[in-house]
Amino acid sequence: MAARRRAARRRAALLALVLTALLPGCGSAEPVARPQLPTPPQTVFSPEPTTPGASPTPSLPTPVPTPALTPVDTASPSASPSPTATPTSTAPAPLIVIDPGHSGRSIRSTDRATGLRDVDYPNYPEIYETFDVSACVGEGLRTDGYRVTLTKRRALDSVGLAARAKVANDGRAALAVSVHDDHSQGPGFQATYSQRGVTHDGKYHAMYRGTGGSRTVFSDAAVAKASEQAAATIARARSDAQGRKVSARENSFTGRAPLEPGNLAIVQLLAKVPWVYNEAGAKVGGSTTRAMSIATEEAYAKGLLVGIEAAVPLPARPVTQPGAGAKGLRRCLVTAATPGDGRATRPARYAPAGS
Ligand SMILES: [Zn+2]
Repeated sequence: MAARRRAARRRAALLALVLTALLPGCGSAEPVARPQLPTPPQTVFSPEPTTPGASPTPSLPTPVPTPALTPVDTASPSASPSPTATPTSTAPAPLIVIDPGHSGRSIRSTDRATGLRDVDYPNYPEIYETFDVSACVGEGLRTDGYRVTLTKRRALDSVGLAARAKVANDGRAALAVSVHDDHSQGPGFQATYSQRGVTHDGKYHAMYRGTGGSRTVFSDAAVAKASEQAAATIARARSDAQGRKVSARENSFTGRAPLEPGNLAIVQLLAKVPWVYNEAGAKVGGSTTRAMSIATEEAYAKGLLVGIEAAVPLPARPVTQPGAGAKGLRRCLVTAATPGDGRATRPARYAPAGS
């Protein structure tokens, strides 16, 4: 009996281990045992930024959600004049594409060009946090004079990975940046990932996804190098802003079916522009569902913003930090995360802890 009980305990421990390995965060493959949302959350986000530098305008009517899922450049020069940008040349400001992690519903499709599986899924509370951070980084960049496109209009939009890459490719973005966090990892885990990877014994690995006929290797050396430099720059800025060491790393998707095996995020693989993928460990007090604090979101957002502005300086006049964009982050994040303000709402259970 005792032996049988021990065996049962061992089986239970093994099962717990397997489940832990599969559980939340971007690090995991699938939403196994992920809690269901109580009701479909009404996340509403105005695609048009408020006037840069101005205080929030609560008297504005609640924006009607736009049904279109196709991301649109919301920062055409005429639509979004920036008081801080005084371009002296006719060249348009650099376009930055911000890619908030995950989709509102599970996506299982195949990229026609490569045959790679295009798989994504909701991930709570990450999907809300990274959308708020992305939206506010975007607002900050616009304030400082950049053009910005987000790959999603609202937190729970569903946009495939190939479609996200296309947004940056079609816009000929100077840089694209994916924003993720990982509630299965503590705050010691902070990373940027480039399209070049990192050296192993002085050599770079091939950066790829897939097997057999669909194995696809990232082959644009110039873009890979630019991505590597941007990933290092953003890692430095994030280290300063977050007060934690942020390292340039190489990802691994192998053994995480149905994700394609390999070492490069699909959005980066399908991109024709430099793309930096970001992760931030977000486990709070041992809980995988408790939201990040506003202070943590602000530090992450500031690192991203300052890093992007350092990686892609404005041609006319680089932003002196902290610029107006960085200074406005906290107000933006508090506004974005507060339910009922008309811009964005999220289920109370995912409201940020503390501020
Ligand atoms: Zn993620």
